[in-house]
Amino acid sequence: MKTFCGRANPTTGSMEWLEEGEDYDYHQEIARSRYADMLHDKDRNVKYYQGIRAAVSRVKERGEKAIVLDIGTGTGLLSMMAASAGADFCYAIEVFKPMANAAVKIVEKNGFSDKIKVINKHSTEVTVGPDGDMQCRANILVTELFDTELIGEGALPTYEHAHKYLVQDGCEAVPHRATVYVQLVESRRMWSWKKLFPVHVEAEDGEKILVPPSEMENCPGLPSVCDIQLNQMPSSDFSTLSDVVTMFSVDFSKPIQSASTCYRVQLEPVKSGKAQIVLSWWDIDMDPSGKINCTMAPYWVKTTSALQWRDHWMQCVYFLPREEPVLQGEKLYLTACRDQYSVWYNLQKAREGENEADEEEHKADVRVESPVCRCRAHLLWNRPRLGELNDESRTHQYIKALRKVLKTDSVCLCISDGSLLPVLAHYLGAKQVQCMQPSRIDLYHPHELWQAFFKANHLEDKIKIIEARPELLKPSHLEDEKISVLVGEPFFTTSLLPWHNLYFWYARTAVSTHLASNVTVLPQSASLHMMIVEFQDLWRIRSPCGTCEGFDVQTMDDMIKDSLNFRESKEAEPHPLWEYPCKSLSDPREVLTFDFTKIVPQQCLSTGGSVKLLRKGKSHGAVLWMEYHLAADISVSTGLVQLSNEKGNCEWNPHCKQAVYFFSSVIESEILSDPNAVTYAIKFDTKTGEIAMDFKL
Ligand code: SAH
Repeated sequence: MKTFCGRANPTTGSMEWLEEGEDYDYHQEIARSRYADMLHDKDRNVKYYQGIRAAVSRVKERGEKAIVLDIGTGTGLLSMMAASAGADFCYAIEVFKPMANAAVKIVEKNGFSDKIKVINKHSTEVTVGPDGDMQCRANILVTELFDTELIGEGALPTYEHAHKYLVQDGCEAVPHRATVYVQLVESRRMWSWKKLFPVHVEAEDGEKILVPPSEMENCPGLPSVCDIQLNQMPSSDFSTLSDVVTMFSVDFSKPIQSASTCYRVQLEPVKSGKAQIVLSWWDIDMDPSGKINCTMAPYWVKTTSALQWRDHWMQCVYFLPREEPVLQGEKLYLTACRDQYSVWYNLQKAREGENEADEEEHKADVRVESPVCRCRAHLLWNRPRLGELNDESRTHQYIKALRKVLKTDSVCLCISDGSLLPVLAHYLGAKQVQCMQPSRIDLYHPHELWQAFFKANHLEDKIKIIEARPELLKPSHLEDEKISVLVGEPFFTTSLLPWHNLYFWYARTAVSTHLASNVTVLPQSASLHMMIVEFQDLWRIRSPCGTCEGFDVQTMDDMIKDSLNFRESKEAEPHPLWEYPCKSLSDPREVLTFDFTKIVPQQCLSTGGSVKLLRKGKSHGAVLWMEYHLAADISVSTGLVQLSNEKGNCEWNPHCKQAVYFFSSVIESEILSDPNAVTYAIKFDTKTGEIAMDFKL
């Protein structure tokens, strides 16, 4: 069987469907999965084990046999915990075939085959009865079906079904209960992920202010959850307007209704400010007493014990439909609505003279529609991209560079997705400005959005959108003029890894015949940079686990390793490193340069060498990123923006993902005897636009 996988081709900017063998999807799934991260999550594992032991004892104390249903068994871990705790029998359900197979092996290796039956089915397909998958209903329900938003992986419908058909009334559940917490905050940084702020430009004829289209003002944005490592958000980047409030909780030991519903709580701001964001996280109580608690509370809330790092559960950022000025002590209602898989929020002011007695009446009109982007801007600009466009210092660099290269007779073409550069070029005096958004063409036509945007800024006939691919550009598109200034950020929505934005170079090559002989290209060049790092935590997601709470899970480690090595050469993967702190072990090094004043060459660009490890630490991998040289002395980095030499602490561009290449084995540099510890070979294949690399430690 073959499967087709969509992937943007960085040399054409368009989506292509590649035929892949049947194993491809599965290897991707395993290689990029969160199983390793979960197995490394000590806090989670210990608490599950405690909760399971307590549940088994309670059932035994009642004189009953302990029959466990483990939905989504993965490696079989929670079933093995139950069996070790004295459960009489476990039904371990796993829908994902390769995982179910792995669970069978792991269960056998650990000697639990007679106590645990692995069933490769979705829980809703499981049958109960003498000839069924399960002999009888279970009296202990164990699951770990939660994502950062708690319900995003379908926990509610799964529980609803399990209570109806698979477990006994009054069953014990581990976890017993989940509680969702919220806190209202004001944060320019996070709000900049939802809205386009006005852009100020000092032009020859006075200050211009570029404003977002009015449709964007009240647009609720996208329904997809914004989950981040909130512990990496410095407290100076937001201001809390309310205390932490319990929004809702779910008792997993009772029948559950997954149908859409709303919850409402009353809030009194502890400070006046602009309510923009609801931060949210949850905790789970493993037993009814609440003594075994596993929490995702961020650093400023949870000050007692050390924070457990994990990537499979983080925290959520919800954007209110609109910014609401609030006063300290005033009465507000925060509403959470949910469907089966997602949650969204709304804030209302209490009406004059309203009191608790009116609560019920109020409830009827709190139902809020699920957020759907109406303005289309949120389809064009995703959250990190909006953050990037709202970054004033970045915009300033582009303005400075444009000022250097633009003249009053400039004929300017901009090639980048959803870029504000054409407007900046117009304000800064270019005679003629047109733009192309190549990689968006097949996906969605942003024309209407741009019309609204131009209209809001009275630019309707000032900037022309060319709806053609670069290779199909005709002189008529350019009113028979040659391009004197070609600009790009460059940014393309289909890019996954930093170097995929080199599509700008391919597009520049495709439009070569339309360029004036003395054309200026901005950026004039790009460079690829590389640094060896030690991650504070991110290493866990790719690191073998060996044993987990005493259970041998090496089969899982081997499976992940196999999948990572499935392709001849390992691939780099994108990660936003502002969320994942690391320490540099080598100096950052420029490894390749790409000259945009020339066309893409026929032959590959290769480089190699060795880097010195300057600091003590574990070399987990290499980080790679691009820098763009806009004009003489003006560069922007999509990766490292600051490095403290003393300790090697890195500050990363907060809007971009960097490429991380994990080494297959970790070396620990204690004494730096061999100064050339890491050798590398890096090759940019100009035919495919991809970069292959190899490191030797
Ligand atoms: N229980 C393991 C793995 C948790 S990951 C542990 O705690 O380490 C969740 C697993 O549940 C995934 O492997 C997923 O494929 C599976 N899953 C999710 N919903 C399911 C359902 N309704 N029926 C069966 N398997 C499910």
